Amino acid sequence: MRLFDTINFKCDNCGQPLEIQTKAGVYSLNTYSIPQLASKPIKYKLSMLDDICGEKVHCSACGYTNQINIISSPSIKINS
Ligand SMILES: [Zn+2]
Repeated sequence: MRLFDTINFKCDNCGQPLEIQTKAGVYSLNTYSIPQLASKPIKYKLSMLDDICGEKVHCSACGYTNQINIISSPSIKINS
């Protein structure tokens, strides 16, 4: 069984809470919000953000497909 961490974020279109799973990080089955993840040590969060960057997450509430983009999102700072 592969373990993963879960990162919570909101749909860009309607604000519905969504989540994405990453197998990077410490495999500890933790759940983070984006701000919580951003407060982690730089090596740790970079591997996780790199893992989810470019992933697409479909919103079941509005049908919008969210693409994780760590460059354009002002809420995700990769510089510490
Ligand atoms: Zn939505």
